[in-house]
Parts: sequence; C-alpha cells; structure tokens
Amino acid sequence: MTTSLGAVRSTFAPWDDPALAPLVVYDGVTKRYGAETAVADLSLAIYEREFFALLGPSGCGKSTLMRLLAGFETPSAGRVLLAGEDLAGVPPHRRPVNMMFQSYALFPHMTVERNIAFGLTMEGLPREEIRERVAAMLKLVKLEAYANRRPHQLSGGQRQRVALARALAKRPKVLLLDEPLGALDRKLREETQFELIALQERLGVTFVIVTHDQDEAMTMATRIAVMDKGRVVQVAPPPVIYEAPATRYVASFIGDINLIEAKVAAAAGPGAVAVETEIAGRLSVETDEALAAGQQVAVAWRPEKTRILRAGEEAPAGWATIAGTVHDIGYLGDWTTYVVVAGGLRLRAAVANAARLVERPVTWDEPVRLAVAPSSFVLLAR
Ligand code: ADP
Repeated sequence: MTTSLGAVRSTFAPWDDPALAPLVVYDGVTKRYGAETAVADLSLAIYEREFFALLGPSGCGKSTLMRLLAGFETPSAGRVLLAGEDLAGVPPHRRPVNMMFQSYALFPHMTVERNIAFGLTMEGLPREEIRERVAAMLKLVKLEAYANRRPHQLSGGQRQRVALARALAKRPKVLLLDEPLGALDRKLREETQFELIALQERLGVTFVIVTHDQDEAMTMATRIAVMDKGRVVQVAPPPVIYEAPATRYVASFIGDINLIEAKVAAAAGPGAVAVETEIAGRLSVETDEALAAGQQVAVAWRPEKTRILRAGEEAPAGWATIAGTVHDIGYLGDWTTYVVVAGGLRLRAAVANAARLVERPVTWDEPVRLAVAPSSFVLLAR
C-alpha cells in the first residue's frame, strides 16, 4: 500500500503541467484586521487532488487563508477563485468547501452516527440518502461497529476519524483541516498521517491542511507553502523545500541546518559562484541567481550531509573542510548528533549509527574536521 502511494505521489505534479488549471486560486489577496495585515498581497494556486500544507509559525496567516476559502472571512483586496469562479458573495454553505474541526468539536450528546449525519440533516437531504452516506462514511473510517457510541466512549484516534467522516459526508471538493492531528499523541499521529494520505488518495478530494508541525507537513503534503508574516515565502514539494530552500527563513524553519556567512568573490551566476568564508575559506557553490561581487550571502548544508574526520583522516577529493572541537554529543539511538564548535559557530553533524558498537567513538573536546561535498551546499542570497 505504502509503495503504491509513493509511486502515485512521485508522478503527481499537476503544478508542472501548463495545460491544467488550478482548483483554488488566491489572486493578490490581502486581509486586514484594523491596522493589522494578516495576509499581504498573496497569490497561490492549489490543484485538484493535492494534499496541500500551509506551514509557518503561529500568527503568520495560515488560518486566515483557510477562512477566506471557506467563506468565513472576505478579502480586503484581491480574489479567491474555485474552479475558475470568483467566490466573492458566495456564502460558506454554498461553497463546495468544508472544514474539519478538531475532534473535541464533536457533539458529546450525539452518537457517532448522528454526529456524522449532522451536516446532511441541516442541509435537508432525504432520510434515505443520509442513511446511505453515513453508512459509507462509517465504512470509510472503519467505525461501523461504533455507530451507536458517543464521543466519550471512543479513543482519541476514533474521535478524530468521526470528525473526518463528518466533514467528508458533505462531499466537499476541498477539505480544510486545521491542525487535524493536534490532539493525538505522537504514535497515533504517525499512524493517522498515513491513514489520512491513503483516504485522501482514494477519495480524490483536495486537502488543504494547516499545521505548525514540519514533520507532519513533510510526511503528508504533495506541496508545502512556507509562510512568514502573511506572505508565502516558498511553495514546493517537501524534498525541494528541504534540499533547495529559497531563503534563510525556509532553510532554518524546516529541519536542522548549518549556516555560515559568506561574501561573493566575483560577480557570477547562475551556475558556480566562488564565495569567501571565514571558517571554510573559499567555496564554490551552485546557484540559480546572478550575484554581485561582495554581496553578502549564506552557505547552508544539512547535518546529515556532514562527515566527521578525526586526526589523520583525509577528506574525499574536492570536499570542503572546517576544523573545530566536539562540544556536544546527542545520542538518539538511530542517529548521533555532534555539535562541533568552529570559529565561534556551533555546527552540527548527524551520523547514522550503522554499527552497534564502535571501538573508539568520537568524544567530547576531540579536535575534528567537518567535511562537506560541494554539491551539499545551498547558497542563500536572501
Ligand atoms: P495562524 O493561523 O498562522 O496562526 P492567523 O491567520 O490566525 O495565523 O492570524 C494572522 C494574524 O491575524 C495574527 O496576527 C492574528 O492576530 C490576526 N488575526 C486573525 N484573526 C483575527 C481577527 N478576527 N481579528 C483581529 N486580528 C486577527
């Protein structure tokens, strides 16, 4: 199941197909609350069947974006379109968009069945149709045996599935999920993430999820929009966000990263650019941008792409090296993270613990060199 999902995902890239029109479009949207700008002239396109994640710190405008799509807020400027239609003036209940709230928003006095049926009853659907849809939803979230229980008689994960079934029963084109797994413990969260992906693929509904949890976004999303202060900083599939962050902000927000300051040696780019650094000397780094001589930039690389060289060990040909001292060692079972202090900076190397026992492990205060392949460097001009 997981492999086939992966295969589907690796070929799914509607955003690269110029012939495809997006399902949801934010077109120069601004949302102000008094003097505060929650969303600032933001443009964004989301495609059908995407599992789209809005990621960013609290207050960056994620919920506001969702509420604008659901129709609970109206833009101060710009347009929100769904399937090409401007949603201005379309009330929330007339939009093919539904919001899944956290599981504690279930009605405690109603059975699972009646919770799921609630939106359909409000819509005034015929009783027979409601019965059929509720049965299908119970089957979908594997809760057939729990139809007559009340929320407090269910586990946290089961309650989450009821909330999902309730939101999906109305057959929305777009389902909005605001921190959907926030109430679950870590293990259950991971299980539920895979369940959600499988279910979304099966139904073909477009999911837009708000989260502040980067691992969750990395695991589930087809694309991630990283937000900062009401703006989208980068939109890309998870591996691109991780391997080719567009700015210092994105690089530091997702995963651990080493970042050193550098100056462009001579005008160059796109292509290989020579930069001067204090602790690693002159480096050659690839970039997509044209850079000016003397421009201040950062060179970044991930801890797991860093090797630790001990006294007498040679770096592979062409690799950059940085001399330092081991300051901290964090043993995580599968990985060990070493914090190496070099020129006043704390740099990290993450090493997989492939062997069970190591005869002479790297230790505190040991002088080492960090080695990095030039292809692991990312140049950040902003
Ligand atoms: P996030 O979901 O990323 O945490 P929000 O979209 O909830 O961010 O909020 C973005 C900004 O807009 C915040 O600074 C918040 O205080 C402000 N904001 C959101 N809703 C309102 C509101 N109803 N009235 C006034 N300010 C609001």
